[in-house]
This record gives sequence, structure tokens and C-alpha cells, in this order.
Amino acid sequence: MIKKTRTLTQETDTQKLAAHIAHQLQPKLVDPNFRIQIALEGDLGAGKTTFTRHLLSALGHIGRVKSPTYTLCEPYELSNHEHVTSLNHFDLYRMKYPTEWDDAGFRDTLSQPGISIIEWPQKAEGTLPEFDITLVFELIDEKKRHIHLTGHTSLGQELVTEISDS
Ligand code: ADP
Ligand code: MG
Repeated sequence: MIKKTRTLTQETDTQKLAAHIAHQLQPKLVDPNFRIQIALEGDLGAGKTTFTRHLLSALGHIGRVKSPTYTLCEPYELSNHEHVTSLNHFDLYRMKYPTEWDDAGFRDTLSQPGISIIEWPQKAEGTLPEFDITLVFELIDEKKRHIHLTGHTSLGQELVTEISDS
């Protein structure tokens, strides 16, 4: 396990971090079996959806990014060159019980190749498949956040290692 903390003093810092992670992921996406699970934790308004929006945009998504608060999951298809990557954006905040994601049919979605981003993974109380990386957004003030990154798997550790210290 590897941990790092960074300070984001304005939203453009969050955008830069998302772009940096997108840039690291991009070459891996040519592998049709590539799979990554990204957990996003932190209070309401801490910046989880904002980070996801910037990550999607950096990966080439054009258009709206809805918060999946009521649908649990919003799916995206990212195409670059010949490759199409699925990105599933989850928000489990509204789940009424920990395994609702499973009953809603998302075990299959989570096991498929592509990128899974999960806001409020704590709501599943440890019933989700293993994450590669966890980003915890800590709200300091209106614009400033501390972000704590933890790499769990070798893929996650590789991503965290590549994040510069600041
Ligand atoms: P969450 O999904 O964690 O509940 P959101 O991303 O929906 O939070 O909301 C975060 C809000 O804070 C947005 O309105 C965003 O514009 C604003 N914001 C201000 N500074 C930052 C920052 N450094 N990083 C992320 N969001 C920021
Ligand atoms: Mg959100």
C-alpha cells in the first residue's frame, strides 16, 4: 500500500490532477482487458463528481456528466482511435442497504473491463470488489481541498507513485 497527500487550492488543481491520471491511464486503455476500480471518498461537496467530470473530459468525453445520485450508475463510452473504453460512474450515496448495488445488477458491470469510478463506496460496507486506488477528498474551505491517495493494487500503487508531491 502506498499513500500520498496533495493540496488542491482551486478547481483547476483538481482538473490538473484528473488530467494527469487520465494521461497515465490512456496508454493502458488500448488493452481490451484493462480494468481499474477507482474509489472516491469525502463529504458532500468535497469534489468527487467534479474530479470525475474532469477525468471524463481529459479522456475525451464531450457533453454532460450527470451525477449518478439517483440512478446509482451513469455509463459512458470513451472512444479514441480504434478503441472504445467503458467508464461507469457510480454514486452509492442513496443506497438503502449495503448490497443494493448487487441487487441492481451492477456486479456484472463492475467485473467488466474498463474504468469504474465509485463515489461513496463506504455505503457498500466492504461488499464491493477490490479497488485499485482510493482518493479521499477533504474539504478545507470553499476552494481548497486535501486529497489523500492510496494505491492498493500494483496498478493503483503505480498511479500514486506517478503523482508528484506537493
Ligand atoms: P461531491 O461529488 O464530492 O459531493 P461535487 O464535485 O458535486 O462534490 O461538488 C464540489 C463543488 O465544489 C463544485 O461546485 C466545484 O465547482 C466546487 N469546487 C471548488 N473548488 C474545488 C476543488 N479544488 N476541487 C473540486 N471541486 C471544487
Ligand atoms: Mg458527487
